[in-house]
Amino acid sequence: MRWGLVGASRIASGYMIDAIRAQESSDVLSVLSSNSARGETFARDNNIAASHTDLDTLLADPDIDAVYISTTNEKHHAQALAAIAAGKHVLCEKPLAMTLADAVEMVRAASEKGVVFATNHHLRNAGSHLAIKQLISSGRIGKVLSARVFHAVNLPEHLRGWRINDAAAGGGVIPDIVVHDADTIRFHLDEDPATVVAQAGTSGMGDGVEDSVMSVWTMPSGAMVQTHESFTHKFAGSGIEFHGTEGSIFARNVMTQQPVGEIWLTDETGRHEIPFESHNLYVRSLGLFHAAVAGSGRPSADGVDGIKSLAVALAVRTAAKAGKSVDVDYGGF
Ligand code: NDP
Repeated sequence: MRWGLVGASRIASGYMIDAIRAQESSDVLSVLSSNSARGETFARDNNIAASHTDLDTLLADPDIDAVYISTTNEKHHAQALAAIAAGKHVLCEKPLAMTLADAVEMVRAASEKGVVFATNHHLRNAGSHLAIKQLISSGRIGKVLSARVFHAVNLPEHLRGWRINDAAAGGGVIPDIVVHDADTIRFHLDEDPATVVAQAGTSGMGDGVEDSVMSVWTMPSGAMVQTHESFTHKFAGSGIEFHGTEGSIFARNVMTQQPVGEIWLTDETGRHEIPFESHNLYVRSLGLFHAAVAGSGRPSADGVDGIKSLAVALAVRTAAKAGKSVDVDYGGF
């Protein structure tokens, strides 16, 4: 499969180009950048044959089967609609869009056109999260009573830019990290958060956008979820916990792009270390995307998953602003 990159981004150069090239018979043919010099440098540095500043030119290439969209968040909607109209399969970065209506439009357009559309939620591809899901779904902790997500990190200097000061580009910790946590909780519990309460603010980094948020979600099963996302925590470390009637799962350093961390389960028989596989998260995600294009299975996170993670993040932001409980609106999905 031959790919076009929409966006000369760090996530593309840092992870996705390698993940695409790790697939059989697959390569990146071109890249789109709004800046011709940056696009040319990006193409040269990453061994990509062509760079463009015009999306229609990139999409007009009949050799391109799929596009990976990793521009800033406010651009995803229009670029995805153009790619879908051109008949390309789309892997889009999170959050899918700035509004729920835009995300729904993207997913519906892909469905009507018959192209594969996926959301790049990497965490559900991690060996650690696959092992946790297996523990929960096999009943090892009984009925799940609650979950806690620890996702307060120290945003690296090179990633600060628009994330910490540009609301119009989709900056802020809620669109950046809450979407991942929403997807991860949905993945593990197989249900969608129903209501949320939240508090958000700045703790030294956000300039016009929130850099920290804590929220509590209720699940239809009755389980409660507590999450903490931040850009400003140098030493907190990440993690996730699930507490059930028969046991508790503790995972540390697993809310990350790397295949690392540790998991243990505590129940009446004691503490048990849980082994897990250490494959590359993005390579697995790309593999499932390629299989879906070939007609086998589904992407690891599809368009509806992207709509739902965005819906939870939007509800968290609304709840934080309003100071009251908000029902999550999934736009009919
Ligand atoms: P970047 O800031 O690296 O890139 C976003 C845009 O900024 C690019 O499209 C590019 O514009 C422009 N840009 C890139 N480098 C420079 C530079 N040196 N100077 C000026 N402009 C520059 O964003 P990220 O890679 O961090 O994020 C891109 C998207 O991917 C976002 O939607 C984000 O939420 C998502 N993401 C997802 C991750 C995941 O694991 N799923 C991880 C990280 C990000 P142009 O294309 O016009 O050249």
